Amino acid sequence: MPDNNLILALDYGGTKLTAATVRAGERRWLALERSVSPPQHDGAYERAAMLALARRLLGGARPAAIGISFGGPVDSTGRLVFLSHHIPGWENVALCDQLEAELGAPAAMANDANVGALGEYAFGAGTGCASLLYVTVSTGVGGGWVFDGKIFAGADGMAGEIGHTLVDPHGPLCVCGRHGCVEAMACGPAFAAVAQVRLRAEPGAGVLLRELAGGDIARVTGELVARAAQAGDPLATDVLLAAARALGFGIGSAISLVNPERVVVGGGVSKSGPAWWAALREAARANSLPQMRVEIVPAGLSDDAPLWGAVALAQGKLK
Ligand SMILES: [Zn+2]
Repeated sequence: MPDNNLILALDYGGTKLTAATVRAGERRWLALERSVSPPQHDGAYERAAMLALARRLLGGARPAAIGISFGGPVDSTGRLVFLSHHIPGWENVALCDQLEAELGAPAAMANDANVGALGEYAFGAGTGCASLLYVTVSTGVGGGWVFDGKIFAGADGMAGEIGHTLVDPHGPLCVCGRHGCVEAMACGPAFAAVAQVRLRAEPGAGVLLRELAGGDIARVTGELVARAAQAGDPLATDVLLAAARALGFGIGSAISLVNPERVVVGGGVSKSGPAWWAALREAARANSLPQMRVEIVPAGLSDDAPLWGAVALAQGKLK
């Protein structure tokens, strides 16, 4: 017999796996466990390790529903993993079917950005709004849409890919093979690379940033650029705000197309301080129609957004 309101939430994060249990309607985890995957692992390893983690957490109980966040593209029905961009062995895996057979409960899945959007909608900074764009900016830029409480996944499950909308056709090369995408200009590694180029070209500039990096330009990260900018370093400020404007420009385009009620922005780079937020908001407003009253707000759930989104997905299976 399933435990009537026990929910199992699973997050396949690429470098780490997280499993958690919660009672439907409650906001506190009953149990939560993370496991860091060894280098060079594959999809089969992740599937076995997550199953072991889930079984240990459940301790013999059968959940009423399972929600899954997957760090890679998932088909529009939410049943099939297309692949992982980082881990081999995830090509065309029917993950929902496998977990349903192993754990005896209905499962629902979406990619991590879409699940994160649902998490923010259900439990975070998006509560109470009818239309929401969620943007997460860290080592990449992801996004997801929620309309009337449901993820909008698009025809191929790939809606919300704001990271690969265009800001500058002559901009830097993106991982997708094109030039000047939002991701190639606004994610942490992207603006860290810009800062490194400028530090090499301008020997007298960026004194604070150089100091934070211990004098080694190769050690400059997005986080160090943000810290130096917040401490008043002019070069770091310049680089950081250009990245914020690129993201804001992309968000403005999305606002113009869809006119959402709220845009929720999370991920490590979103903690870059008030000047980053001001530049982002200003660029978004400048690149959308003034009649659109959208709010652009910080995420409420931080790194747990996909896990809480998985809970919301699972709750949808209970009805
Ligand atoms: Zn791209």
